[in-house]
Amino acid sequence: MIRAAVLPAVGAPLEITGIELPEPGPGQVRIRLAAAGVCHSDLSLSNGTMRVPVPAVLGHEGSGTVVSVGEGVTHVAPGDGVVLNWAPSCGACHPCSLGEVWLCDNALSGAANVHARTADGRELHPGLNVAAFAEETVVGAECVLPVPDGVPLADAALLGCAVLTGWGAVHHAARVREGETVAVFGVGGVGLATLQAARIAGASTIVAVDVSPEKERLARAAGATEYVVASERTAREIRALTGGHGVDVAVECVGRAVTIRTAWESTRRGGRTTVVGIGGKDQQVSFHALEIFHWGRTLAGCVYGNADPAVDLPVIAAHIRDGRFDLGALVTERITLDGIPGAFDAMVAGKGGRALVVF
Ligand SMILES: [Zn+2]
Ligand SMILES: [Zn+2]
Repeated sequence: MIRAAVLPAVGAPLEITGIELPEPGPGQVRIRLAAAGVCHSDLSLSNGTMRVPVPAVLGHEGSGTVVSVGEGVTHVAPGDGVVLNWAPSCGACHPCSLGEVWLCDNALSGAANVHARTADGRELHPGLNVAAFAEETVVGAECVLPVPDGVPLADAALLGCAVLTGWGAVHHAARVREGETVAVFGVGGVGLATLQAARIAGASTIVAVDVSPEKERLARAAGATEYVVASERTAREIRALTGGHGVDVAVECVGRAVTIRTAWESTRRGGRTTVVGIGGKDQQVSFHALEIFHWGRTLAGCVYGNADPAVDLPVIAAHIRDGRFDLGALVTERITLDGIPGAFDAMVAGKGGRALVVF
């Protein structure tokens, strides 16, 4: 019996409870978790903004040590440190054939599986494939990547979602070039990773925007050169900080209509806006036809940083080893499994960066 955070039903509070895990079958890996980040997507799954089969063990940003492997698993062995990849690609579907592995049609096919049971026999699904809010988990071998050399095992959890997303938003989706100006909306775990990625890309002015004035120090430590507390004047303030033009690139890490619209308005004519935040169907963003023509701007979505973990993690790891990317700077709280409901409350209140469950 191991302890896990179980979502019993959409909209219900998480239960921290004992679960039974089977031994890994063919092609599976059993992992003892070292750490798991609490991501906004976990909150979105618990409140129904995003849907997966329930009851489920949530948690999708994790790292740990391989305990045992099933038949046919050769790329990792017991004792290895691994990062969980919640969106593995199949290599065979149409997006994969185009090289757009982050859009794989089959990325979440594992979420329908039953991977564990509660003590009273209820079947459990692995949230976003990996069920990282648990002392141990069993996942498909395709969801496991070796921890890159020189990256601490617990902090490596962040690579699996926040860091890959923020890194990819800057380097793949927005393709920020040296000297460009960037605004980042939302200073949570992904926002902080995005700020660091923008600094590494050589952005000149980097504006962080958040509703909370308390995140300024955190944002500046991650690379922000300017800090704006969100208001109805935000777009004007950002234009004023960039010679009246607006930024070259805005990255929206909130997923709300008002921030998407403000991010778009904060860019220069011809500027690019990348939407990383995941919003609900009630968030309608509107544009009139003349402004789409006049401003010549781009508005684009971004899934998992438009990144390929197998390619990007070694690149990010090199920046971590050289001290350019600081994983620890994303973490504002280290908690236990029992602290996850409180971490959800803090996210709803817009507080903090990443809360990291340390096992
Ligand atoms: Zn996430
Ligand atoms: Zn695929």
